[in-house]
Amino acid sequence: MDGLMQDYPLTVPMMFRRAERLFGAKKIVSATHSGLERTTLSAWAERVRRLGGALEDLGLSSDARVGTFAWNSARHLECYFAVPGTGRVLHTLNVRLFADQLVYIANHAQDEVIFVDRSLLALLWPLMPELKSVRHVVVMDDGAGEIPDDPRVLDYEELLAGAEPADLRVADEDRAAAMCYTSGTTGHPKGVVYSHRSTVLHSMCALMVDSLGISESDVVLPVVPMFHANAWGLAHAGVFAGSSFVFPGPDLSPAAIARLIEQERVTFAAGVPTIWMGVLAEADHHDLTSLRCIPCGGSAVPKALSEGFREKVGVPLLQAWGMTETHPIASVARVSSERAGRGEEELAEVRATQGIMVPGIELRIVEPGTEEELPWDGRSRGELQAVGPWVARDYYDDPRSGESFTSDGWLRTGDVATISPDGYIHLVDRTKDLIKSGGEWISSVALENELMAHPKVAEAAVIAVPHERWQERPLACVVVKAGETLTREEVLSFLDGRVAKWWIPDDVAFIDEVPKTSTGKFSKKELRDRFAGHRAGSD
Ligand code: ADP
Repeated sequence: MDGLMQDYPLTVPMMFRRAERLFGAKKIVSATHSGLERTTLSAWAERVRRLGGALEDLGLSSDARVGTFAWNSARHLECYFAVPGTGRVLHTLNVRLFADQLVYIANHAQDEVIFVDRSLLALLWPLMPELKSVRHVVVMDDGAGEIPDDPRVLDYEELLAGAEPADLRVADEDRAAAMCYTSGTTGHPKGVVYSHRSTVLHSMCALMVDSLGISESDVVLPVVPMFHANAWGLAHAGVFAGSSFVFPGPDLSPAAIARLIEQERVTFAAGVPTIWMGVLAEADHHDLTSLRCIPCGGSAVPKALSEGFREKVGVPLLQAWGMTETHPIASVARVSSERAGRGEEELAEVRATQGIMVPGIELRIVEPGTEEELPWDGRSRGELQAVGPWVARDYYDDPRSGESFTSDGWLRTGDVATISPDGYIHLVDRTKDLIKSGGEWISSVALENELMAHPKVAEAAVIAVPHERWQERPLACVVVKAGETLTREEVLSFLDGRVAKWWIPDDVAFIDEVPKTSTGKFSKKELRDRFAGHRAGSD
């Protein structure tokens, strides 16, 4: 019909051009092995265009997959915009994956070139004989590491210096812009492909005040790696908004993060709970009060951790839930106006939920194994399922896609949740981490939350161990804070009254550290393997 709006494509270059036009003076700081590198957004934007030209000079296919194997940096952000800006597909490789998974992923995506930090080249180079499609390795100098003498190895700065700035434009918003593989706790990783349209819409959502609310006035520190679900969208959304950036580079130690926040007056910093556990301990030695928003997710955010930030830094953590398959932001735990004004304890409970679905995403819970949607009554537990313009519809070239989507097209998340009448999601567990005891389910997440509230507990993970009578019983794996001591009885009596009696673990294993996955989450799989022979009592 006449009078309609323009059919204007939502593309990554559109976001880039806005920042280039308006916010050239903004700072971009990158920590490297040889110190801090500072640049402005206008200098960065000029390099993005040159990188676009360099991609043409490399003779890549028009829809080439361009791999990155890099820490968070301004150069990595150049790849984020130049690659999709020339119609190619940015493929961020997780630098912490095992060699065989990396080989599988790069071959599966058919990466033609990989942009790699010099300090990470030693990890990538030995895999080259097995990387079938990779023709060039472009080295970005982050201040450390050997460079092999080989014609396939190119220097990033030389490429840029010799290239003409490109006119970054993409006509079709449904074109692939980027891809990312889920870490895959079982089987091979699965590839998720983001379109230009989904990237723009997800970025717009990240800018909404009731979601992450990234602003032009923010100094954004993505601690979450740019190889993990697009740094939760911060890299794109921060550019779109016109924020300044601080990139942490290779050193993700709590002291380094705290120093960056303090020195650069960071206002917006996002990372997984394990990162913030470390940084909280630094709050006594560093001024972290410039922070106004601290998004946290990837695994359940312990209430005690969030409250620790509220008390010491002045702002609690902002819990978000999502997956690689959802770009990833799907829900955010802001306190609604209806719940605001209640006591601190109740507000802390709200913030310990996975929040409410962000505008644009629809969620539901479904009785496992059926198609029956469950009520939002805060009690009924079901599998969380998602649809929306930034939710994957299948996996890249993968026969397993069918298992993960319902017949009516919803993404099956593999998470079990309840939803309150006003929409707050409470994630009970990942399906595979639930503990099945005597025909009932015990939530490992809830137990961990309580254990980590103990003042002497640094970290705690709960896994199922086999039990003769009850099938499975919980085993608490506890890391005691440095300099403290704790007994099994003290741990168990702490839980008494905090959780149902039959949830109390049969045993406590004191360990030095909870093993982590490549994305910094507790690796329950590794713990289950380690304690496979552990038998809980038989009564
Ligand atoms: P993987 O962990 O398999 O690498 P993702 O990084 O995409 O994959 O993680 C998605 C999963 O992380 C979700 O399905 C959920 O189990 C978990 N997760 C993400 N955010 C939260 C949160 N706020 N609370 C609890 N679990 C979360």
